[in-house]
Amino acid sequence: MFSEQRLVKALAEALHSGSITLERLESVSGGDINQAGVAETSVGDFFVKWNAAAPPDLFAREFEALEALRDSGSELRIPEPITWEGPDGAGSPGFLVMEYLPSAAKSADWQESYGRGLAQLHRTSSDAFGFDHDNYCGTTPQPNEWADDWVAFYRDQRLRPLFERVCTRRSVSSNQKRHFERLLERLPSFIGDDDEPPALIHGDLWSGNLHTDEEGHPAILDPAAYYAHREAEFGMITLFGQWSDRARAAYDEIWPMPGDWRDRNPLYRLYHVLNHYLLFGGAYGAQSFAIVERFVD
Ligand code: ADP
Repeated sequence: MFSEQRLVKALAEALHSGSITLERLESVSGGDINQAGVAETSVGDFFVKWNAAAPPDLFAREFEALEALRDSGSELRIPEPITWEGPDGAGSPGFLVMEYLPSAAKSADWQESYGRGLAQLHRTSSDAFGFDHDNYCGTTPQPNEWADDWVAFYRDQRLRPLFERVCTRRSVSSNQKRHFERLLERLPSFIGDDDEPPALIHGDLWSGNLHTDEEGHPAILDPAAYYAHREAEFGMITLFGQWSDRARAAYDEIWPMPGDWRDRNPLYRLYHVLNHYLLFGGAYGAQSFAIVERFVD
């Protein structure tokens, strides 16, 4: 059971406040993975997520990713993480508390701000591909060991480990396994033939993780952030996200995408389709292998 007592105590510690009272915890729906609510307290409203079945460090990793996205200085609104706790071991789930962003109608320049803000985020670079910690996409573990070579990172820390998980949980034929292995072998001939710098990406930018704040500005939520080739971000955007001509034009004004990015895009979509096959089963399997078979036979 979610413990309101733990929530109030953690909030009081994080805010260095002697006494906080919880007036109401109003349930919110919409996420894929967690339970969530708005905590109305004596010191303001907060957004709270909890999950009894989550890996114990899930919310610690989300907390860090939100901090990294905020540090980028992107004009995208990113909720400030306030505090988190793991499960208490006695049945009370871990939780994450962050700034609550009430939603309003989109501002007139929402699309431009989204495109510009995403390019500003991607302009945030690092010496290598990866992240300070391994983290999660949904609840799927994402290894993030620092690597200089993007193709090796994408093959060895994204596609291969995810495929191995899929093979243990879902049905995959020996033919499909052979095709997937061939794709991994040939990956260097399909992607990464450039010297694009590591770019900080949101990592799971489907439309459920795009939000509009109280002033009508675009906000991004629930990241699976790491430093990637920026084309990896567009795997999820083209699968289940939003990318209008106006957003694209604003992005390109800051940092034009290569003219042929769409040729490689299915290989970045593959990671997320495969993750959906792992998490939800069903037709995502056929959709994954249709992508693989476009590249190898
Ligand atoms: P999950 O991890 O379960 O996918 P999300 O973080 O995506 O959950 O949140 C679920 C929904 O709650 C979002 O689609 C959004 O509408 C809303 N939401 C998430 N974070 C906030 C926030 N900080 N302020 C206001 N609403 C939020």
